[in-house]
Amino acid sequence: MNNNAPSSMKPEMTMPDNPDNNHQHAKAEPPRLSIVIPMYNEEVNISRLFERLFPVLQELEESWEVICINDGSSDHTLELLLEETQRHKGLVIVNLARNFGQHAAVMAGFAQARGQWIITMDADLQNPPEEIPKIVEQFRKGHDLVGSIRQARQDSFFRKVASRLTNRLITKISGISLKDFGCMLRGYSRDVVRGILQNPEYRTFIPALATFFAKNPIEIEVKHEERAAGQSKYSLLKLFSLQLDLMTGFSMWPLRILFIVGSAIALLGLLSALTILVLRLWYGPEWAVQGVFTLFAGLFFLVGCQFFALGLLGEYIGRIFQAVRNRPPFILDWVKRNT
Ligand code: UDP
Ligand code: MG
Repeated sequence: MNNNAPSSMKPEMTMPDNPDNNHQHAKAEPPRLSIVIPMYNEEVNISRLFERLFPVLQELEESWEVICINDGSSDHTLELLLEETQRHKGLVIVNLARNFGQHAAVMAGFAQARGQWIITMDADLQNPPEEIPKIVEQFRKGHDLVGSIRQARQDSFFRKVASRLTNRLITKISGISLKDFGCMLRGYSRDVVRGILQNPEYRTFIPALATFFAKNPIEIEVKHEERAAGQSKYSLLKLFSLQLDLMTGFSMWPLRILFIVGSAIALLGLLSALTILVLRLWYGPEWAVQGVFTLFAGLFFLVGCQFFALGLLGEYIGRIFQAVRNRPPFILDWVKRNT
């Protein structure tokens, strides 16, 4: 079998109308700015979002396009988007074959983006569109990655605490120093996006991956609001799996810690075995029976550790498996542009 599949098998992982070589084609000038918005069952938010987004963009002194990705919604998101495209010039709909998750949807949007500067945001108005000019300003100053820190974050207490802890832990483990990983209102230069698309990972976390490709990143504070309507698509389990992705996807440290802790436990085991042996020889066989409950407690703990270790190894092996299968992170159904 040929491992070097032709790149044409994955047309959706390249970017269209690349401004870098547009001298070859006399096509319409690509816009300066692409706004990428993943949408999964957001019918209640679409009109509210556009009512605020389009005026902000019209005020900008840059050309723009808005790319909405329908991530396999089961409500009327797609119908509403189709209606809106007739009304708004510069709106692009990317329809995915089914639900692939927020980050895959963002990748699908990236693959259609024609802008030099690309800004991602959520559809639920948690990221106020009025903050977009702040990001554009940083691009103008020459930054190629504009991260964001949520000012007065509007989420549940539990999510805020959990996110603060994981932000710190992830920074430690991965060495990626971002103050806030979770906010999706971010800006990426075309080069950074190209880097991300050329290294498509099945389960990835775009804000973290982007730091790898950036030359001149910056983080700014942006406002954060409550979800306008509808429910968060992230259950506790999905959030947990996202954090796990972040930790195992960007660092080998968990494996190293496993090795260190494993070695320490083995050493401890050896020492206790020697102690028991000595005590057994010293006090005779009766003594050994007394320690049996402690022994079991210790054993249960170790069995627990082993399962944890297996799970962690599984995470890495799973990632390798996904990488080896080399499936695309999303399947594109169709794209409709109103330009
Ligand atoms: N989203 C998506 N696919 C999914 C889940 C979410 O495209 O499978 C989109 C969703 O429509 C929204 C954004 O990703 O625009 C963030 O989702 P959500 O607001 O549910 O996440 P939270 O703000 O709770 O982290
Ligand atoms: Mg949200």
